[in-house]
Amino acid sequence: MKQFKVGIIGATGMVGQRFATLLAEHPWFKVVLLAASPRSKGKTYREALGSRWSMTTALPENLADLVLYDAGADLGEITAQVDFVFCAVDMPKDEIKKLETAYAQAECPVISNNSAHRFTPDVPMIVPELNPGHADIIPVQRARLGTKRGFVAVKSNCSLQSYVPALFPLHEEFGVEDVLVCTYQAISGAGKTFETWPEMNDNVIPFIGGEEEKSEQEPLKIFGSLRDGAIISASEPRFTAQCLRVPVSNGHMAAVFARFKNKPTKEQILEKWRTFSSIPQSAKLPNAPKQFLHYFEEDNMPQTRLQRDLEGGMAVSVGRLREDTQYDYKFVCLSHNTLRGAAGGAVLMAELLAHQGYLDN
Ligand code: NAP
Repeated sequence: MKQFKVGIIGATGMVGQRFATLLAEHPWFKVVLLAASPRSKGKTYREALGSRWSMTTALPENLADLVLYDAGADLGEITAQVDFVFCAVDMPKDEIKKLETAYAQAECPVISNNSAHRFTPDVPMIVPELNPGHADIIPVQRARLGTKRGFVAVKSNCSLQSYVPALFPLHEEFGVEDVLVCTYQAISGAGKTFETWPEMNDNVIPFIGGEEEKSEQEPLKIFGSLRDGAIISASEPRFTAQCLRVPVSNGHMAAVFARFKNKPTKEQILEKWRTFSSIPQSAKLPNAPKQFLHYFEEDNMPQTRLQRDLEGGMAVSVGRLREDTQYDYKFVCLSHNTLRGAAGGAVLMAELLAHQGYLDN
């Protein structure tokens, strides 16, 4: 694979720091440029971060002295130096939409962690193992934007990265009709730590703004199909969700109840999970887990602290599959929200798009 020069937009944020860490040794992607808000412009990465570095590994030395650009004002200078950008910024949605579209129109592909473009019909929202074919919409988007290379591709919300992967391989054969899910979400999903959010110690907050809507609607785009120049969301499975913030640093857990058109046996479900594999695995993409879905037989697994880092935080852990009195089955899923659910998922998506040729010049 050729080497790509990449920029991180929102490099000082929680997700941006993850990108910096994950890309430090990446075999295909070399970070050559960092950008954030006008507040950070002209400062070195180390200065702009101040005490905000919250990764467990050290700030990559090759990035510490890079001088930050202003993502908006310096767009021309930025896009002239990189092959594509990763983007994770905290700005109003309409401003993010404009910013990402402007990068795409400057012929710089945008791999985005932001939600602004998730429901733009010709913007693919990709979980690489589940819907890699949605990248086929990119030529349609390029035609709309009038670009040769530029496009925006987004990753989905972090909450659904635990339960949708487990449902996906079951849906094809058994038809998942109804899903009820309760998520138990880590504080890093709000860009916080226990130091910056002390109210979360010994506490559960039963509200995460906008999260239940995202957890119900975004899966339908992932289950959707390409038709008439758009990705049309599926009408099934139907999702209902409750999302709770729990006192956990990293790792989103989900308790799932599912009803099927054709109820499978427990063994059939386990077989589907065991054998599920997709392009990231066959193409051996650098950040792909070898086994995407890991099933744990023990009644008290998966546990957040024990399994969130499985396969570099890129695998999904599943457990407690059993029959239910109202739905057909219930089970529990776990994924790392800032790795698989955020920066790691975006890096894997970029690897997929590079493999598919969408990042070529
Ligand atoms: P964060 O820690 O608050 O960081 C925000 C970043 O945005 C900083 O780099 C900040 O730069 C930059 N920024 C703010 N205003 C800007 C502007 N006007 N122009 C350019 N850059 C600007 O946020 P985060 O948790 O990393 O989240 C970033 C995005 O990823 C959000 O859209 C969020 O919804 C999404 N996301 C987060 C997670 C997660 O697990 N945390 C998961 C999935 C998706 P300065 O330092 O210069 O202010």
